[in-house]
Amino acid sequence: MTGKGKSDPDRFGFVAILGAPNVGKSTLLNFMVGSKVSIVSPKVQTTRARVLGICIEGSTQIVFMDTPGIFTPRRRLDRAMVATAWDGAGDADQVLLLVDAERGLDRDTEAISAHLRKKKITALLAINKIDLVKKPDLLTLTETLSGDGLFSEIFMISAAKGDGVSDLLNYFKVNLPEGPWHFPEDQISDMPMRLLSAEITREKLYLQLKQELPYSTAVETESWEEKDDGSVRIAQVVYVERKGQKGIVLGKGGARIKEIGRAARLELEEILERRVHLFLFVKVREKWGDDPDRYRDWGLNFNA
Ligand code: GDP
Ligand code: MG
Repeated sequence: MTGKGKSDPDRFGFVAILGAPNVGKSTLLNFMVGSKVSIVSPKVQTTRARVLGICIEGSTQIVFMDTPGIFTPRRRLDRAMVATAWDGAGDADQVLLLVDAERGLDRDTEAISAHLRKKKITALLAINKIDLVKKPDLLTLTETLSGDGLFSEIFMISAAKGDGVSDLLNYFKVNLPEGPWHFPEDQISDMPMRLLSAEITREKLYLQLKQELPYSTAVETESWEEKDDGSVRIAQVVYVERKGQKGIVLGKGGARIKEIGRAARLELEEILERRVHLFLFVKVREKWGDDPDRYRDWGLNFNA
């Protein structure tokens, strides 16, 4: 964060982060906000809902919208996630398209560019994961992408290492519209703690189960109890769609769920800065992917 100059006017704006699944949108958001507000995993489509991350640069308050990624939707949940991403882009003051330097211009990115062109949205381009590619390859990709005329600026970054991210923040600092801030100075997200804590457990599930994990797994916080000794008791339910999946999540003698719970608890204790007692229950609920309540909880439109 840089100091607030007396003569600088207050600025405020929304920035939508768009990109194919797995290009590093959530990683970039967390880095800019300086805290975990969106979960990250090597598996695609981890981010389901729209997540706001807020940061302050000088006298500018920047609100980033992490989106679930844009891809060809097949199921209801996919459709709702993609619709949410595009709604975010329509509402934003600036649109930032993230491209994976290693993967380059793939089908998903082509589809996003085509849509931006159709909607006449000018975007900023950030080529991410530059730590993974050689300079000449990066130059070739940059030339290809800049020939498009769709992008007003091109940034090269590594969201994981933080390289180049300050250039991006500086850009928003001076280019967002003048106007009053909409959020308190210390707010970094609009996600309620109950939801964020469920998301953290879901991240640990993804990390532990890797390819084994059914995509159709949901976590919900059932109760949140503040104790007199300053600790908090959190009970969460992990929903799977079939009986067989329950066994996978539990692991031998419950070893896996125990490890998932431990990892989630440690991270929660760090974020909440107090002791956490986390209880995880695994339940089978068929077709939760077609349950309207889930969509409401995530801020998604069931009928997208
Ligand atoms: P999203 O689906 O676009 O939100 O992508 P995530 O933020 O979840 O990241 C997907 C994967 O890419 C994760 O394994 C990240 O650790 C990894 N990743 C993100 N940014 C970088 C980067 O700059 N360099 C490298 N090497 N990996 C990255
Ligand atoms: Mg994400």
